[in-house]
Amino acid sequence: PQISMGTNNRTLFSLHKSQEVEQTYIMIKPDGVQRGLVGEIISRFEKKGFLLKGLKLFQCSKDLAQEHYKDLKDKPFFPKLTDYITSGPVVCMAWEGDGAVASARKLIGATNPLQAEPGTIRGDLAVQTGRNVVHGSDSPDNGKREIALWFKEGELCQWESVQTPWLTD
Ligand code: ADP
Repeated sequence: PQISMGTNNRTLFSLHKSQEVEQTYIMIKPDGVQRGLVGEIISRFEKKGFLLKGLKLFQCSKDLAQEHYKDLKDKPFFPKLTDYITSGPVVCMAWEGDGAVASARKLIGATNPLQAEPGTIRGDLAVQTGRNVVHGSDSPDNGKREIALWFKEGELCQWESVQTPWLTD
């Protein structure tokens, strides 16, 4: 895309872009935080070239965990899952980029870390489904839903990275 240089144009460009570029909600789960993997996990998305739009350390309520995982509410592991997610702080992130949802899922790897490929976050850093260190949205619609659920208005930044012209033509 063309990068406009005027301040006003740049603002318009950012607003315009933010409406159409895909965003995914990535969350480092409490085990990832406790195990000191925050920097490592953020680094994987940062190095890939996605744009970080929001980031915070956050202790979530049971209600929020239940709402986030509402599609799994009938699963036998649901109570354990919501206990796990509320067991300590999580790191909430919104990352943006074309195809970011599917690509982030590939970087994260299979739900069961023993089946996740080496090179993926779960494949490299975890051994059990119930402690799989990171979450990533499974569709662009869920990306929007989850970002709206975990971030308040004003917590996302509209900005452009100087790397953009070196990442995309
Ligand atoms: P993913 O996180 O890979 O999208 P799911 O949406 O199927 O996977 O499940 C959400 C989360 O619920 C998983 O990441 C994992 O933390 C937990 N989970 C899934 N299946 C199980 C299970 N059989 N036992 C315990 N926890 C599970």
